Amino acid sequence: MIQVSGLTKIYNTGAHPVPALQDVNLEVKAGEFVSVMGPSGSGKSTLMNLLGCLDTPTSGSYQLDGIEISSLDDTGMAKVRNLKIGFVFQNFNLLPRMTALRNVELPMLYAGIDVRERVKRATAALERVGLAQRVHHRPNQMSGGQVQRVAIARSLVNRPAVLLADEPTGNLDTRSGEEIMAIFQDLNRGGATIVLVTHERDIALHTSRIIHFRDGRLVEDERVEKPLDAL
Ligand code: ADP
Ligand code: ADP
Repeated sequence: MIQVSGLTKIYNTGAHPVPALQDVNLEVKAGEFVSVMGPSGSGKSTLMNLLGCLDTPTSGSYQLDGIEISSLDDTGMAKVRNLKIGFVFQNFNLLPRMTALRNVELPMLYAGIDVRERVKRATAALERVGLAQRVHHRPNQMSGGQVQRVAIARSLVNRPAVLLADEPTGNLDTRSGEEIMAIFQDLNRGGATIVLVTHERDIALHTSRIIHFRDGRLVEDERVEKPLDAL
């Protein structure tokens, strides 16, 4: 699903070039559940931005679902982003004045899907994350864990090839974080390919593979023999 080779990102924005990611090789197969760990500044966000087609590498190759991303222009990248990738963020990124249902409909609006199909799919996605009773609530009428579940529902509705989550439990209490991980585990059992950044090893141990970064390099690729069930 994801095939990365020799991926390098050097930022030239400051006085000195910063090698944020150096010669990273990584393969993620369809149906894998991978977490990314590493100290602050080790290149995790840079990797996620490249995998999410939000930025282009300085050199190296990235193939997503058979598409060579490094040869696409901005329009091509935006298209891949909207059609192939689901994003979940630490800060949820929902629109505060819209109901859960409307928030979840948004990516389908951008994809040009008609309103009946949008409502049908958004409702199903909210049911999938256990929020059938909350479709008409706004973010400020829900708990942090519920808001993140809305964000997960939103990430799913265009049936992405891969789900990318950047510290999805970072702003949640332990219990809500476990609920989020239980949903990811459930989606993964249903076949979803997921890559998730976390600072917490307890969170990473719910995934089946942990890749470790240090100074922009992938330094360890760890199999989790028995991923812990969340909750
Ligand atoms: P992490 O997510 O692991 O904290 P980052 O990918 O954010 O690491 O950062 C990796 C390195 O790249 C750091 O040295 C950081 O300061 C630098 N960096 C990140 N983004 C930029 C940018 N837009 N311009 C210049 N340097 C950056
Ligand atoms: P377009 O160019 O098609 O308008 P957007 O910039 O709106 O694309 O972003 C498309 C997708 O990328 C959206 O799903 C959005 O959530 C995600 N996205 C936008 N900005 C960021 C960011 N800074 N980090 C991670 N994902 C982002």
